[in-house]
Amino acid sequence: MYNLSSKKLRGLVGAIALASCAALAIPSAQATPAGATEQPIPIAGAAVKPPTTSGTRGIEATSGWNASSSYNAVANNALYNTPYIPASGCKRPNVALNTEYRVRYFEQEMVRCMYAAWRPIIWRAHGRYDVKPGLVVHGYNTINTQCGSVTGPTSFYCSAGSGTIYIPWRQIVNYYAQNPTFAVAYATNTIAHEYGHHVQSMNSILTASWWRQQHMSGDAALAESRRRELQASCLGSAYISANKKAYPMSGGLLTQWKYVVSHSGDMPGYPRDHGSWTNHNFWSLAGYNGDGKGQHAGSCRTFTAAGTRIS
Ligand SMILES: [Zn+2]
Repeated sequence: MYNLSSKKLRGLVGAIALASCAALAIPSAQATPAGATEQPIPIAGAAVKPPTTSGTRGIEATSGWNASSSYNAVANNALYNTPYIPASGCKRPNVALNTEYRVRYFEQEMVRCMYAAWRPIIWRAHGRYDVKPGLVVHGYNTINTQCGSVTGPTSFYCSAGSGTIYIPWRQIVNYYAQNPTFAVAYATNTIAHEYGHHVQSMNSILTASWWRQQHMSGDAALAESRRRELQASCLGSAYISANKKAYPMSGGLLTQWKYVVSHSGDMPGYPRDHGSWTNHNFWSLAGYNGDGKGQHAGSCRTFTAAGTRIS
C-alpha cells in the first residue's frame, strides 16, 4: 500500500483528496509581524483516501457520491448545527520544541486533547465520533503514506483507516531556534488545522468535497479546495479558542498566532488552492471568535460562503 501513487489510488477508489494547508512566512526573532522577514514556507499538503466504514455511526458513504449527496454533505452537514465545542481542559504541553521527541510529545498531547473535545461534537453530528487519528511526526523530506508519497516539509492529513496526521518536526525545531513563541503558535495552529481535516473526514465532508472537486475543473476545482482548507482552519481555530481558559491565548502567543493565521494561504507562484491570506485570516478568526459566547462548527460554513470569501 505504501507505494501507491495518487493516480493509482484515484483509479482504484474513484475519489482521493489532496487537502493542503497554507504557506507561511516566519516573523523575525523580535516577533513583530510588521517588521517580519518573510520567507515563504509552505506548511501543509494532504492526500486523503475515502474513509472505511468501521466505527461509522451514521451517514458515512460506502458507495460513492453523486452531485446531490456530495453537495448535501458539504453544505448541509449536521456538523454545522452542533453545540459549542467544549474545552478539553488541556494546558499547553510544557516542553520546549527543540527536539524531535519533544515536538512529538507536544503534538501527541494536542491530538489527545482535541480528540476529547471534538468527540461529543462529532457524535452529535452522527459522524465517526470514536475514531482517534494517528500521528506521525516525521523528519523525512519524502514520506510514503497510504495516501501516496508526499515530498517537502509539509503537514498533512491522510484519511485512510482511522486517519493520520503528519507533522514535520524539523520545521518546528527550526522555527523554535528563531522564535520560540512563534514556533508554539505554529505547532498549535498546524495540528489544530490538521485535526480540522479529521473532523471533516469523520463527518464525510472531506470525501464529499473531493468527489466534487474531481468533477470540477479550472478555478471551480481550486475553489472547492479553498473551501475545504479554509474550513479546516476555521475548525482548528474554534478548538483553540474553546480551550483558551486552560491553554491561554494572550500576549505574545496571541500576537504570534494572529500573525500565523494572517500570513497563511496561497503564496505567489503556488496554485490557488488554499485561499488568500485575507480569507485565511477571516475564517480563522470566524472560528476563533465564534458567536461571541462560544465556538462552534456552524461558524465554518465555507462551502456556502460567497465567492469573495473563499478567493
Ligand atoms: Zn489543510
